[in-house]
Amino acid sequence: MSQDTIATKGKAPWLTHIDTDLECANETRLFFPPDYTATFHDDIEKAKALCMVCPLARSCLEWALPQTSLEGIWGATTPADRRRIRRRRKKIAA
Ligand code: SF4
Repeated sequence: MSQDTIATKGKAPWLTHIDTDLECANETRLFFPPDYTATFHDDIEKAKALCMVCPLARSCLEWALPQTSLEGIWGATTPADRRRIRRRRKKIAA
């Protein structure tokens, strides 16, 4: 499935590929930490590293960015990372 197809279907790459061997489908503990404090820093970094080599990373991030209340690691970003990206893009567009 192409990245464009995923984007137009509006489904999370993680959900679309839940039956595949994508790491996020098998390591939910890493991708959905209880919080984003230093306590879970190592897990979060491991999840981000797995995203960095995921073929869906770009479409995953673009899917996640507009969803302001989305929790979890998507496209190698935490919710705080995504807020920063949204702010940066808003500034650039202004
Ligand atoms: S980029 Fe990360 S969260 Fe998104 S589908 Fe790939 S491994 Fe899963």
